[in-house]
Amino acid sequence: MKRTKIVATLGPASSSAAVIEEMIKAGADVCRINFSHGAYDIVLEQINTIRSLNKKLGKHTAILADLQGPKLRIGVVENNGVELVAGKEVTITTNECIGTAEKLYITYPQFPKDVNVGENILIDDGKLLLTVVSTNGIDEVKAIVGHGGTLSSKKGVNLPNTKISLPCLTEKDLKDLDFALTHKVDWVGLSFVRSAADIIELKHLIQNFDHNVRTRVVAKIEKPEAISDIDNIIKETDALMVARGDLGVEVPMQEVPVIQKMLVRKCLEASKPVIIATQMMESMITNISPSRAEVNDVANSVMDGADAVMLSGETSVGNHPAKVVAAMTKIIEHVEQESDVYNRDNAAPEVDIHNQRFLSDSICYTAAKMAQRTNAAAIVTMTHSGYTAFKLSSHRPKAEIFVFTDNYDILTTLNLVWGVRGFYYDKNISTDHTIADIKFILKKSGEVKTGDLIINIASIPLSEMGKSNMIKLSAVE
Ligand code: PGA
Ligand code: MN
Repeated sequence: MKRTKIVATLGPASSSAAVIEEMIKAGADVCRINFSHGAYDIVLEQINTIRSLNKKLGKHTAILADLQGPKLRIGVVENNGVELVAGKEVTITTNECIGTAEKLYITYPQFPKDVNVGENILIDDGKLLLTVVSTNGIDEVKAIVGHGGTLSSKKGVNLPNTKISLPCLTEKDLKDLDFALTHKVDWVGLSFVRSAADIIELKHLIQNFDHNVRTRVVAKIEKPEAISDIDNIIKETDALMVARGDLGVEVPMQEVPVIQKMLVRKCLEASKPVIIATQMMESMITNISPSRAEVNDVANSVMDGADAVMLSGETSVGNHPAKVVAAMTKIIEHVEQESDVYNRDNAAPEVDIHNQRFLSDSICYTAAKMAQRTNAAAIVTMTHSGYTAFKLSSHRPKAEIFVFTDNYDILTTLNLVWGVRGFYYDKNISTDHTIADIKFILKKSGEVKTGDLIINIASIPLSEMGKSNMIKLSAVE
């Protein structure tokens, strides 16, 4: 089975149970629900569908709720299309109106205060470029069109040079977050993260919502400010997304590949999952096969060491939602078989007995090394928090990573993480008994066979439910 995970965005093309089932069977591990679009009743139906499919198929498909964050947009324009002509002046107003070629509405009240003369305004993924010539500081900004073209309604706006004073979570985001947490989604993504403080704020909101909700956070990296604060963001977040769509507009496009590699490397070192997103298989929105460049993009992301690769429009509005997942799976499987993506020696723990994670980190690191030396078939961890699963995964062992847990929620959460496969297990007799029982379960389900070596990591005594402190190497009989 493939090790790199696939995130599939749901949308009109992929909301029915039949299509979601096909996508899961084709290799989708995480479904992304985009709050920029869906209404709550549709979203709730999607969540229920995923959960009942998990029961039906015996899968642990994760749910990622993506908050839109301070995304800026132009309002409705007349006839859903106006022509912006290079060299012409356009007024951008914060007073709602139907846009024309001379005057456009922007959904950002502080815009005239925040923006400075000479700063760029990019519209529709950077297809249109305007430059600010004046602002009245109240409700109007005048700009000259650099690259013109047709502008349709509600297109996104990027202001790569402007310090945007909007909060990281808008009123809409707070409502969406409430909804997502009420339904206990596994992950919530935050768009346009600017600093680690944004992540801290979101985590506080999650904690204060309900102490029993364990929803984790994906920081979407798509602003230059986030790159400047990246080490702190990685420290605070649970996972990262290389959100190349907006990132490629906010920073010069040629910088994105180097940034992608830097982010993947830092995440591997920090044992934080990283998702590569946007335009991975874009041509399959209409075509039945990807372009050669897209195949290379997915393959290279796998080789870089990404935990997951993401599909957006390809599955949400595309013509072939299940086929595109299947094509991605094929690329991933081949790369994982034929190139060496394993044993990267990441996250070697420093010897520090005062660090309370030192023992379990060393156990995970050593288990991965042992698996490499002995060519073990599997590393098995028993965990309640999921901590050792994240750690083991970051070492990228060639051995399978099987997680046994009595915590159902962690099974779906971990479905995003590279190489991790979860099993629900709630018997708790003794370590010896559990290890033997787990071996039996894995053999019966065909995951391991006689003669395979298995590495178990656990906490002894089991009854204390402490941190991992034991490694056992044994053969399957
Ligand atoms: P989005 O995020 O699809 O929510 O915009 C991903 C990206 O910007 O690449
Ligand atoms: Mn984005």
